Amino acid sequence: MIIISQMATMISRSFLFGRYERKVVKNVLQFNYCRNSTKLPRFIRTSTSLSNTSINNETPESDVVSDEIPKNTSKKSIESPLLKQLQAIIRFNGPLTLHNYMKEVLINPVSGYYMSNDMFGPEGDYITSPEISQMFGEMVAIWIYNEWYKMGSPKPFQLLEFGPGRGTLMKDILRVLQKLGLKESDMTVQMVEMSLHLIEIQESNLCDPDAKYECDESVDGYYKHSSTKYGGHNIYWHRNICTVPKEFTFYLAHEFFDALPIHKLIHTEEGWKELLVDLDDSDDGPHHLRYVISRHGTPAAKVYIHSSEIRKELEVCPEAGVVMNDLARRIEENGGAALIMDYGHNGTETDTFRGFRNHKQQNPLQEPGTADLTADVDFSYLRQQTEDHCVSFGPVSQAFFLKNIGIELRLQNLLKTSSHEQQRNLLSGYKMITSPEQMGERFKFMAIFPAVMKEFLTKFPPAGFHRNISTDEEDKVIMNRHKDN
Ligand code: SAH
Repeated sequence: MIIISQMATMISRSFLFGRYERKVVKNVLQFNYCRNSTKLPRFIRTSTSLSNTSINNETPESDVVSDEIPKNTSKKSIESPLLKQLQAIIRFNGPLTLHNYMKEVLINPVSGYYMSNDMFGPEGDYITSPEISQMFGEMVAIWIYNEWYKMGSPKPFQLLEFGPGRGTLMKDILRVLQKLGLKESDMTVQMVEMSLHLIEIQESNLCDPDAKYECDESVDGYYKHSSTKYGGHNIYWHRNICTVPKEFTFYLAHEFFDALPIHKLIHTEEGWKELLVDLDDSDDGPHHLRYVISRHGTPAAKVYIHSSEIRKELEVCPEAGVVMNDLARRIEENGGAALIMDYGHNGTETDTFRGFRNHKQQNPLQEPGTADLTADVDFSYLRQQTEDHCVSFGPVSQAFFLKNIGIELRLQNLLKTSSHEQQRNLLSGYKMITSPEQMGERFKFMAIFPAVMKEFLTKFPPAGFHRNISTDEEDKVIMNRHKDN
């Protein structure tokens, strides 16, 4: 079995020595290591969103159709294009559940947040780990290779990513898998993405400009097909997992589940009720929308509360449950594994829904469609959806995972051949993704494997989920050595 640290060294060495590799070194060094470390990740919560927002506890009359003419609203926040649409829906149907509000705001086909923005760029709204440091994707690649090797290196296999953003994580993974010897025919890449705009960006980052692609939903289910410039693998884009072939697959989700819509449920003296979004036509409200609590128990309040629930309010993400359940069945029937990477908790948090715009928190009701909306992932809920078919590991912290895969080794090797400026970027990127005060603790990793592998995995646990090499000491040595940078 290949030892993880050997692999980290292998990719480092192969990037650093030899004639052919020299060319790669140059390419590797051309990557912007610290891709944007001055920007803020969106897991940061300066204050909880709802506790800071006045909720109108009165029963909304708008459970019934409201056809009131809005009053003069000049003091209110700017009216975004999506607002008019939301106002019309609420006037016609009554208040929206937070779930339907979030869904409209994020993936409305015309003016949804993900449909036209490049939220990750320097002018964007937040920054994610793969965008901060190439080492993040490299460690994930080593994990995939290691687990695939342990399973007997079945070929061909699929590498699937949910919500790939700009395709940066996939790019770094493919670079490493190519260096580790995976050939064109060994693997296909499957991307599950709703946003046609982001698909364009992913394609330009992952494929040659002259790569041919088909765009025909009637052909085998996928709606776009090309080949990658990192190994020539076939790459397919899907709107959801239903059209992805049922084969041996490694599933990845980085900051995907936190973007799925949630219901917010609140326990009152009259039982569980739901938080809704209603019109605010009053003069004093800062926005055109406001929160209200449902008059009665809604379907979500009836269906999603577990009898053992002790929290007085909570957030539930039904889509996350559906995706995890499907994924678990596929892993059981066709083999493979999943790696879920996100900020979240183990069924303990109550109020995490928030908006992000231009690296600052924004009230989720302000100018809908202009800010990202997100809620922490409930890992205990994700795990429950897989328990009948799969065995799970974690969640462990991002720092724990990355360090046990061997990020320090990779960092040391990169530092040796970098310029002063690059060293500074490398170190600040490393610090940002691993330090407990930044992204190291709040981000978690969870892995899912077929239940039949339970015994095997007890003997040979998945990489990154058990203590492997001494890390904290090494960390201090590296940071001290480069303190002056
Ligand atoms: N994984 C990337 C991007 C995270 S942002 C990174 O970490 O940098 C969330 C991603 O999920 C975006 O690509 C967004 O378009 C996609 N997404 C959001 N809702 C989705 C849905 N319901 N189905 C598929 N993709 C979705």
